[in-house]
Amino acid sequence: MSDYKLGTRCVQGGYTPGNGEPRQIPIVQSTTFRYATSEDMGKLFDLEASGYFYSRLQNPTNDLVAAKITELEGGTAGMLTSSGQAANFFALFNICECGDHIVASSGIYGGTFNLISVTMAKMGITATFVSPDASEEELDAAFRPNTKAVFGETIANPALTVLDIEKFAKAAHAHGVPLIVDNTFPTPVNCRPFEWGADIVTHSTTKYMDGHGTALGGAIIDHGVFDWMAHAEKFPGLCTPDESYHGITYAEKFGKEGAFITKCTSQLMRDFGSMQSPQNAFILNLGLESLHVRMPKHVENAQAVAEFLYSHPKVAYVNYSGLPTDKYYEVAQKYLPHGGCGVVSFGLKGGREAASVFMRELKLGAIETHVADARTCCLNPATSTHRQMNDEQLKEAGVPAELIRISLGLEDKEDLIADISNALDAI
Ligand SMILES: *Cc1c(COP(=O)(O)O)cnc(C)c1O
Repeated sequence: MSDYKLGTRCVQGGYTPGNGEPRQIPIVQSTTFRYATSEDMGKLFDLEASGYFYSRLQNPTNDLVAAKITELEGGTAGMLTSSGQAANFFALFNICECGDHIVASSGIYGGTFNLISVTMAKMGITATFVSPDASEEELDAAFRPNTKAVFGETIANPALTVLDIEKFAKAAHAHGVPLIVDNTFPTPVNCRPFEWGADIVTHSTTKYMDGHGTALGGAIIDHGVFDWMAHAEKFPGLCTPDESYHGITYAEKFGKEGAFITKCTSQLMRDFGSMQSPQNAFILNLGLESLHVRMPKHVENAQAVAEFLYSHPKVAYVNYSGLPTDKYYEVAQKYLPHGGCGVVSFGLKGGREAASVFMRELKLGAIETHVADARTCCLNPATSTHRQMNDEQLKEAGVPAELIRISLGLEDKEDLIADISNALDAI
């Protein structure tokens, strides 16, 4: 499938049925799998043979959908997780342990920021946050001898900063560690971070990949290029024998192409069990089949709305990397030449009160803690997700009180603009 163009891979990647087999990916709704001899089963447990034995670790439906996302990103191996949060946790925890350190962009999703700065800190894994706009020198200064990974988001949710992937990859590789990029917002339709030097890509498939607000999920994809053995002293989990698998060394047995995902499945999925249900994987695949058709429409709507808002007298500012006035326009031209995503954020001159009137008056855009849905939705972080903060703290966190995040769906842009225009008139 990798010879085909991206749209063809969206529709038919990951699964090619044989004669008389189901045309659509079958939902294998089974927790367990049957074997004739205990020797057969034993080989699976020792990772001597590949196959299914328990759906907490692997399920055929999930693997077909993971294979499609792997083809879309241009990786060598991939896996699904129960959520985007689980994907980011697994991607980091697969190579970091107590005493290790992460360099992360400060422009990342709040959930991931909490995961790294609070929960992983409790596990003894510390982090240094750097601005997504950090210079090479500033990036360099963030590393420590125990740094094991660099983490960032292609387009940050909700800050909408665009990551200079090449710069972050260069810094990571100069220090012998991989770059992990959460590519949720652009999806592989608009950006493939591996082409710019990223080593691991993660997704909240809950967003555009599903695209219909239906199924929670995540994915981890490995580029299969990072040479773990060349930095063996940093990655003992991959480069020294795993006693829980009779002394297998993942990087030796599965090579650069397979070590990361095999370890992540056989250790972390086994022990944490954050597995996506095969029903959800099936629904996710329906979303993937139209991803290449939907993303350009999300971008078209967002671009039109961003331009409309930019020229409106009641609007103080607009963040959208497709606007030539945007701070990230140049870097977006490089990494997101076909546009980024359907999410726009903006501030109203009337502040917090104006934001609340605006959102109340919207008819098509519903107030939701969600983005990247076929239906337009919006959120004022100051009165919802960031409600506990005062105006000063909100400003520091990059989500000033008046900020509205609007995720443009797949409706007709004329209707969306008319709806937004009416809501602005009501202020
Ligand atoms: C939503 C989101 C997540 C978390 O994903 P869930 O599927 O909600 O767990 C992680 N990263 C980004 C960029 C997101 O937008």
